[in-house]
Amino acid sequence: MQEKYRKFIEIIVRELPLVGVLDREEDRLVYAHGCYPVEYKWILQGKYKYLPSAILIPNNTQELSEIMKLANKFDVSIIPFGGGSGIVGGSIPENQEIMIDMKRFQEFSINTVNLTAIGGAGITGADFENMLNENGYTCGHYPQSFQSAVIGGMVATRAIGTFSTKYGKMDDMINSLEVVLPTGEIVNTHDAPKRSSGQELKELFLGSEGVFGIVTKAELYIYPIAEKRSFETYTFSNTESGLEAVRNFIQKGIKPAVIRLYDEVEAQHKIHKYGFERGHALLILGFEGLEEMVDLEQKIVHEICMAFGASHKGEKAAREWFETRFSTKKMLDYDLLRGGTSDAIEVAAPWDRIIQVWSAMREALAPLCDVVDCHFSHVYHSGSSVYVIFHSKTDGDDFEGEKRYFECLKVAIEASIANGGNVSHHHGVGKSKAAYMHLEHGEAGHEVMRKIKRSLDPKGILNKGVLGL
Ligand SMILES: Cc1cc2nc3c(=O)[nH]c(=O)nc-3n(C[C@H](O)[C@H](O)[C@H](O)COP(=O)(O)OP(=O)(O)OC[C@H]3O[C@@H](n4cnc5c(N)ncnc54)[C@H](O)[C@@H]3O)c2cc1C
Repeated sequence: MQEKYRKFIEIIVRELPLVGVLDREEDRLVYAHGCYPVEYKWILQGKYKYLPSAILIPNNTQELSEIMKLANKFDVSIIPFGGGSGIVGGSIPENQEIMIDMKRFQEFSINTVNLTAIGGAGITGADFENMLNENGYTCGHYPQSFQSAVIGGMVATRAIGTFSTKYGKMDDMINSLEVVLPTGEIVNTHDAPKRSSGQELKELFLGSEGVFGIVTKAELYIYPIAEKRSFETYTFSNTESGLEAVRNFIQKGIKPAVIRLYDEVEAQHKIHKYGFERGHALLILGFEGLEEMVDLEQKIVHEICMAFGASHKGEKAAREWFETRFSTKKMLDYDLLRGGTSDAIEVAAPWDRIIQVWSAMREALAPLCDVVDCHFSHVYHSGSSVYVIFHSKTDGDDFEGEKRYFECLKVAIEASIANGGNVSHHHGVGKSKAAYMHLEHGEAGHEVMRKIKRSLDPKGILNKGVLGL
């Protein structure tokens, strides 16, 4: 451990005795990696590349604030650690940083008048939802990483769950935030539901991946548990007509909770399993809310899908998706192959360019991959996400697998940008996509972020390199 880090830890132990400190090699290894696919390659390559100097576990906002003040004084670099489910290399301790584990931030309360709930940064999505359910409420946020991702990490990455069309993404779910700035000051954004008093500060921290501050708690919107939940499945002769049907009902203001359109390739497995028409695209829909509303939405969506040439397949395939929606086994199979790699690259594009982005990403990845799957699972008034899962293998070793990962990432993102898509829809940028930030924001836009970073974090100690800052 570098001398300045050793000194810093000694002072923390003396001045903040209740802060947990982990510095054994085993602990440092556990915190060294998240779920970035390249980190699997590093594990296979032998001695692990990057270890944090130590891990601190503060109990509350005041302690965290003191830690950040001391970190500035001693010029010590810091990375906040949430659930460790991030997949873009946002918490790689390349500079032997000190990790701050936020797991003790467990505050929870419900305001039954405003219908909001406060969640500490360290509460997992699953625990938060379960505690709400026990009280008759939901926040409707179900990312696939529900069991491990925590509130602070999900705010920091603008995460999204599968019921996003009804409940929104993390960006839409937050009413207010508490944040510790890199220099230790504590900011509480106001909880008025709409403000016209200058910059909306919560927006500065949403999606900032820890570069502008550490989120300690969030106030989220909540809803009574739905009276009715139901599912529907449709097939379409091609992806294009499925997308047209979805665009049509979304732009009329009809919002099923779940919309998942699998293209002809990704649909194959389910088409085969349920005996649907070969070579078709598959649409899974979930509806929830008040019974009468659900019935009406379902009826209107049905009419629109049929008008676009759909074939109605009942609820079975959609309900079975719901029951198995947290499984990710196939991707891990490829990551653990010595020369293999896989990832989900998620971008977004407006409706008038969605087909081009989808087909260009497919085309770009095809020569490098065994399998490229693709679906559209988060849709908006003006466009949709495009979620591309690639599985690739080389005959080589772990180093070849790592090289292949970067080749796939590059061709996929460049294809998205060249056709009017963006860099990331919801996984964030971390370090893995940092080099592409200017392609989405332009040099001037990225420079705005650099200027904010320099003014909030003059010593550049928090999440160095993340977002290319
Ligand atoms: C199997 C699997 C499925 C996934 N499914 C989804 C999905 O459906 N939807 C989705 O959006 N994402 C998904 N992801 C990606 C990941 O779960 C999200 O990015 C998640 O929001 C990360 O949260 P975390 O708590 O694990 O954060 P971490 O991985 O711990 O951290 C992510 C980044 O945020 C920073 N950070 C952590 N805590 C804080 C804090 N309190 N304040 C400021 N910065 C902080 C970290 O330094 C890091 O840069 C999936 C990942 C996996 C492995």
